[in-house]
Amino acid sequence: HGEPADTLLAGLDPEQLAAVRAPRGPVCVLAGAGTGKTRTIVHRVAQLIHSGHVAPGQVLAVTFTARAAGEMRTRLRGLGVHGAQARTFHAAALRQLRYFWPRVVGGPQWDLLDGKLRIVSQAAHRAGVGTESEVLRDLATEIEWAKASLVAPDDYVAEAGRAGRASPAPAEQVASVYRWYESLKAKANLLDFDDLLLHTAAALDEHAAVAEEFRDRYRCFVVDEYQDVTPLQQRVLDAWLGDRDDLTVVGDANQTIYSFAGASPRPLLGFTRRFPHAAVVRLERDYRSTPEVVSLANRVIGAARDRPAGSRLKLVGQRESGPEPSFAEFEDEPTEAAAVARRIGELIDAGTPASEIAVLYRVNAQSEAYEQALSELDIPYLVRGGERFFARVEVRQAMAALRTAAGSAPTGELPKVVRELLEPLGLSPEPPAGGAARERWESLLALVELAEELASHVEGADLAQYVVELDVRARAQHPPTVEGVTLASLHAAKGLEWDAVFLVGLVEGTMPIQHADGNDAAVEEERRLLYVGVTRARRHLALSWSLSRGDGNRRPRRRSRFLYGLIPEEHPTARLTRARRAGGAATGPAAAARCRVCGAALINAVATKLGRCATCPADLDEELLARLREWRAKRARALKVPAYVVFTDA
Ligand code: ATP
Ligand code: MG
Repeated sequence: HGEPADTLLAGLDPEQLAAVRAPRGPVCVLAGAGTGKTRTIVHRVAQLIHSGHVAPGQVLAVTFTARAAGEMRTRLRGLGVHGAQARTFHAAALRQLRYFWPRVVGGPQWDLLDGKLRIVSQAAHRAGVGTESEVLRDLATEIEWAKASLVAPDDYVAEAGRAGRASPAPAEQVASVYRWYESLKAKANLLDFDDLLLHTAAALDEHAAVAEEFRDRYRCFVVDEYQDVTPLQQRVLDAWLGDRDDLTVVGDANQTIYSFAGASPRPLLGFTRRFPHAAVVRLERDYRSTPEVVSLANRVIGAARDRPAGSRLKLVGQRESGPEPSFAEFEDEPTEAAAVARRIGELIDAGTPASEIAVLYRVNAQSEAYEQALSELDIPYLVRGGERFFARVEVRQAMAALRTAAGSAPTGELPKVVRELLEPLGLSPEPPAGGAARERWESLLALVELAEELASHVEGADLAQYVVELDVRARAQHPPTVEGVTLASLHAAKGLEWDAVFLVGLVEGTMPIQHADGNDAAVEEERRLLYVGVTRARRHLALSWSLSRGDGNRRPRRRSRFLYGLIPEEHPTARLTRARRAGGAATGPAAAARCRVCGAALINAVATKLGRCATCPADLDEELLARLREWRAKRARALKVPAYVVFTDA
């Protein structure tokens, strides 16, 4: 094993090395963003395997998003490790439960709850609580908090009070909805994703034989992003461990961004109290970002109040210098989006791959302006966590068809099987010319490509496994990979990195979010969210905001409180603002031409010449249309991506 082990250890600094080489047993890595925590645990797993301490099949690595789990698998493969599991808590529990269920509960297999709001709505109806969709969503979130916090319906009133929850309805009513939700779900033999965790923990706690079998199989546990573990996930982890202690955790308390959902950094910060013999490693070198980005990150988090001991780590940038982060203020949101899209176009033209660029925002609703602005420029993009891909009619139809077919588990190579099943739904051998049929075709093709991906990673993968993978991704809102600019919420961006990051919409009421206002703890969580955003950037970082929403809504907005103290004194923003107040909009995107038909800001040369945007070609004559199409095709060729993008529908 000598050779892989050597290369394995070569790219690590002394502290990372200490964590990688620590003997089996509890290990805790406490460190800031970009210091190589994820890299360290991946190398540790590889090292334990290459040195013969554990077999790949005995490793279970868990993290919090499907994409992060996928990246861990990719990195492990890159280190020559095959067969080690890297999954989200939910995906791991899902598999285990399918396996244990016949012995633990018996009877018919359960189904995963699809469309939670429907059941919440029925429950709210029975409990006599309002059923407007806003309220339902809040009720669903509140039930998720309760379950993640191990709070049963009967204890909800007391515990929600203790936790200072701002319940969407009087606590007694929420408790009643919660109770009905559980009973309706049970009657229909459905499990929600929290149930997967609850049942898994219960199976191991209550069935000695099951626990023994499981603990015999898995011997080495690794948790990434441990600062965001919920009591429910911790309970599952404890059940997995039993009385053993072969557990490596890594995390950054400054990146706790799910405490509203019940997560807490306490298990991370209290790790050595629980395991006094744990090896503890702190990392300070930031390998991800330029010193300019690191310095801004330090300032964002340095302003945080009440930083718990153990989280006061300062990052030291290791990379060579890059451009200063930029700050820009705009008249309204469409103008901001247009400018961001134009800047993205420039980066792409200068050689940055679209997949190395991200636009990050606080709430998913913000994606719309950016989708529009990017499609105007024919820049491919994908929306993460936007409930888009899996909400599409054809994807839902496809999943239903695949699920049904899996019940009878047809033989043959997985990608071929999937393709044949999807053909009747519109996956013709040749792509349709355009329009809705083409979009439909693109998303069905993405499902086939996902099957190809699965088949190449998992030997002998079958339709049943594929359907499970789809279920998990649907829940995690993790669409199949499409090359393009990432549009994602700050929450969905955790753990990831891009060459260029645009943090947009930094105004009061959005960042921090409205309902955090007046609640110090909630505002601090928002600040950590901004810290997560800033630390996603390797090289280019742009922060922007706009002073009104636009689209006829001119209500003034104020820039985010978090920006004070970050913007350099003699910044062009100040000049830009002055110019606008003086009635001039000579500089910047505010001067952009507008479409004659729809009034959208025009942000590419051809459209500006035509005075028309690309999205409303209603009465364009043939010649202009042809020129526009040619330009789009040329652009797509230059970007080396298909001219059509999957995730553009509203
Ligand atoms: P986050 O808190 O955001 O999850 P992290 O601590 O997990 O960050 P990683 O994603 O593991 O950080 O690493 C950040 C980047 O730095 C990655 O691109 C990684 O490959 C690189 N990196 C980490 N350690 C080293 C090293 N010793 N030498 C060179 N590059 C490194
Ligand atoms: Mg990480």
